[in-house]
Amino acid sequence: MSHSLFPDVTTAELAQRAARVLTPNYRPAPIVFVRGEGARLFDRDGRAYLDMVGGIAVNSLGQGHPRLARVIQHQAETLIHVSNLWLNEPVIALAEWFVSHTFADRVFFANSGAEANEAALKLARRYQTVVRKAPEKTGVLAFHHSFHGRTMGALSVTGQPKYHAGFEPLVPGAVFADFGDLASVERLLDAEGGKVGTIIVEPIQCEGGVNIPPPGFLQGLRQSANRRDIVLIFDEVQTGVGRTGTWFAYEQADMRPDILTTAKGIAGGVPLGVMVAIESVAAGFQPGSHASTFGGNALATRAGLEVVRVIEDEGLLDHARILGKRLGAGLQGLVQKFPLLCQAQRGIGLIQALELRATATATADQIATQVIEKTRQRGLLLSQVQGRTLRLVPPLVVTEAEVDAAVALLAGVLDELGG
Ligand code: PLP
Repeated sequence: MSHSLFPDVTTAELAQRAARVLTPNYRPAPIVFVRGEGARLFDRDGRAYLDMVGGIAVNSLGQGHPRLARVIQHQAETLIHVSNLWLNEPVIALAEWFVSHTFADRVFFANSGAEANEAALKLARRYQTVVRKAPEKTGVLAFHHSFHGRTMGALSVTGQPKYHAGFEPLVPGAVFADFGDLASVERLLDAEGGKVGTIIVEPIQCEGGVNIPPPGFLQGLRQSANRRDIVLIFDEVQTGVGRTGTWFAYEQADMRPDILTTAKGIAGGVPLGVMVAIESVAAGFQPGSHASTFGGNALATRAGLEVVRVIEDEGLLDHARILGKRLGAGLQGLVQKFPLLCQAQRGIGLIQALELRATATATADQIATQVIEKTRQRGLLLSQVQGRTLRLVPPLVVTEAEVDAAVALLAGVLDELGG
C-alpha cells in the first residue's frame, strides 16, 4: 500500500497547497513526514531524519511502538468513545495509575495541555470561592517567561507578552514574579494584599528557554502557598511522564503541589491532557462544574495507560536519566569546543538545551536559525525556544548511538559556522 494520499504531487507543490488551506499561524518547514521508527522520521521523498524534537516532547515512545500501536488498534476496534454520561474501563485504570503514582487523590481528563491548565485554574478558583468561602482570592501569581497554553485562561497566566498581542483584554487577575526569585514572589503577594488564591508554575520553564530554578525555590513556593492559603499548581505538561527521569519533576524537588497538570508525553501522541488534585481541593468541583466532551475517552486513556506501562516495563525512567546525562555532557562538550557560538548547556533528563550566543555578524537567534536549517539538511531535527536556545526533547526510547550521532551532527554544523 502506498503511504501517500498525494502520489502524483511533489512535496514543493504539497507545501504550497498546505499554505493555501491551513490558517497562517504556523510556519512549517516544507517537509512532509509519512512514517517513523523510534527516534527516526522518514519524509515522503524517502529522506531519514534523527528526531530530537519528538513532536515537541510528545512522542515519548517514539514512532511506531508496537505495543502502543496494538492497543490503539484494539481499542479502536472495540470502543473509542462513550461520553462522561457513563464509564469505560481505560479511564478508571489510568486514573488509578495517577492516584497510585502521584501525590494526588483525584483525576480529570482533558485533551491538551492548555485544557488541563484551564481545568486547574478553574478548580483552584472554585476551591477558593466555594469550599474556602474566600471569594476575594481570585488572583493568580504566575512567572515571567512561563508558558501555559493558548486558551484565554492559560494565555492570561503565560508570562510572555508576545503571545498576548492582539488578544487583550485577557482574563483579569494575573500577576507575574521572577522565576527562581522567592523574594519577588513574596513582594508581589504582599502587594496584592491577600487577593492571590492560586500560584501556577512550571518546575522547569520549558518554552521559556529550559530554565531550571535554584535549589529550594519550589519548596519555598510551597511554604509561601501554605502560609497564605494559596493553591499551588504545577504545570508539568512538558516535564511530566518521565521526561526528567522521574515520573514527574516535582518528585526531585522533595515537595508536593496541590494540583498538577500534564499532557504532551502521556499518550505518546494521542491527544490527552490530565489534571490531578488532592482531595480537599478537588472538592471544588461538583457534578456540572466542569466538563470535556472528549475528556477521558476510552481510546486516549487506553493509549495513556499503555504509555506508562511501557515506560515501566522498559525501564525508561532510568533510561531518560542516563541518556539525559549523556546528551547533557555531549552538549556541554560543544560549549567547551565552540565557545564563540555556544553560551551554555542546561537540562534535566531528556529535556536538554544549548543556548547560543551572538557573533560580530549575527544575533544568537540568527545563529540558532542557521543551526536548525543546516542540521535539518544533514538529517537532524532540532527545535528552538526563545529564539537563541536549541531544545532537545527526543523520545524517551532514544538510543545511545542516536544521542551521540545528534551531538556529532551538531558539532559538524557549529564547526562549519565558524565556532
Ligand atoms: N504548559 C506547558 C508547560 C507547555 O510546554 C505547553 C505547550 O508547549 C502547554 C502548557 C500547552 O499545551 P498544549 O499545546 O497541549 O495546549
